[in-house]
Amino acid sequence: MSGTAQIGVTGLAVMGRNLARNFARNGFTVAVHNRTAARTRALVEEFGHEGTFVAAESAQEFVAALERPRRLVIMVKAGEATDAVIEEFAPLLDEGDVIIDGGNAHFADTRRREKELRERGIHFVGVGISGGEEGALHGPSIMPGGSAESYASLGPLLEKIAAKAPDGTPCVTHVGPDGAGHFVKMVHNGIEYADMQLIAEAYHLLRAVAGFSPEQIAETFRTWNTGRLDSYLIEITAEVLAHTDAATGKPFVDVVMDQAEQKGTGRWTVQIALDLGVPVSGIAEAVFARSLSGHAALRDVSRSLPGPQPKPLDANEAGRFADQVEQALYASKIVSYTQGFHQVQAGSDAYDWDVDAGSVAAIWRAGCIIRAAFLDRIRGAYDEQSDLPSLLADKQFADEIGTAQDDWREVVATAARQGVPTPGFSAALAYYDALRAARLPAALTQGQRDFFGAHTYRRTDREGSFHTLWGGDR
Ligand code: NAP
Repeated sequence: MSGTAQIGVTGLAVMGRNLARNFARNGFTVAVHNRTAARTRALVEEFGHEGTFVAAESAQEFVAALERPRRLVIMVKAGEATDAVIEEFAPLLDEGDVIIDGGNAHFADTRRREKELRERGIHFVGVGISGGEEGALHGPSIMPGGSAESYASLGPLLEKIAAKAPDGTPCVTHVGPDGAGHFVKMVHNGIEYADMQLIAEAYHLLRAVAGFSPEQIAETFRTWNTGRLDSYLIEITAEVLAHTDAATGKPFVDVVMDQAEQKGTGRWTVQIALDLGVPVSGIAEAVFARSLSGHAALRDVSRSLPGPQPKPLDANEAGRFADQVEQALYASKIVSYTQGFHQVQAGSDAYDWDVDAGSVAAIWRAGCIIRAAFLDRIRGAYDEQSDLPSLLADKQFADEIGTAQDDWREVVATAARQGVPTPGFSAALAYYDALRAARLPAALTQGQRDFFGAHTYRRTDREGSFHTLWGGDR
């Protein structure tokens, strides 16, 4: 017998609960279930008036509540819990049913799960969901993988609950088969790390070199947020900087320990980039910057190392410097997205996903943490040329970075002279200059490799592989 619920959600912590409410608010009948039944009861008691929920205490009741083909969303702690829940539900399902994993799964786990369930006749859709708990409730950016057939059944529901871009388009698309959705979500989080690091460096420079107060920097960010840097992360940065700590009356940012934490998706992005051979130096520097900040003992023994102390500029120079920092931030941001989209492309090629980069940019325009006006321009660049080899190959972005580069170099040079660490700005500029270089010192690296390991090299003037008989005792 078939139930009446069009969708089910199991795992009702902050994300699952809000996603279930989002489905219900959009008119769907939602079966809800949680390992600890008290959470299911609490959801229905507190939010039952928002729509139609069918509360299920057992896995059997939950499955029975769903109309066929069944669509059930798992929103539990990523990792072993997801496997445990799949093993609990899969035996109760029929061929053609769809299991959706909305957790932050590693895309390799999603590929494994998809294959295993496909062999049992069940569709498995790994879905990247961004936007935190508020996004889950009001409209997240949704990145589903899995089969095209499962998307045909699931897509219309996801389109209803997804965030809407400024032009009204839902921020969801079928990203590609098996783990493509979770892969793209992983890169989204890597770009998020890079964006946050670049903003943090801009703050550091405005504080230490321009001599601005946190409130002045908040005001500067508010101004930037009305221009090409318009984004959720710039907007919330201004709010964080303007916030005063109630207990001390000091700027909030001055009472927080300067040791950043991470849950691991940025690290995954870099690990996978290394496997794929994609230079995501901006994301890597962001992950390492968080890691370095947490090495308290190492920082303690290093504080007295020689180096300059930043000398704040006078008011006139400070205003001009702030404009230069905006240019450096924008140019570095273009590089981060260039690297992130390169990784999306490399993953798509490696796993035969046929991911459309323009559609990815389009669904990041709203709902997710990196949402920004800028993403509409990236979508436009890929719409104009779907096989764009790099964002920097787009004329508009190339022109903009060309205009910004003098100020960008000045900011990186000033940071180096004044002893302010800017790993994100500096790595982005190095990437840009490496791409521009007529010749790279990689030729010398090849010579060294051939010298000590007979690794051979290719020549500029002839086809083939060469080895030189190096002289001397070794
Ligand atoms: P969470 O704290 O990651 O997980 C708690 C939920 O998992 C509870 O419902 C818990 O059930 C259930 N659970 C844990 N182990 C289980 C097991 N072995 N069997 C059955 N259920 C089990 O919850 P969350 O923060 O709402 O996140 C849910 C998922 O969304 C995670 O994968 C997370 O990474 C992802 N995500 C989170 C965010 C965010 O902003 N928080 C954003 C995007 C994606 P009990 O109540 O019985 O303990």
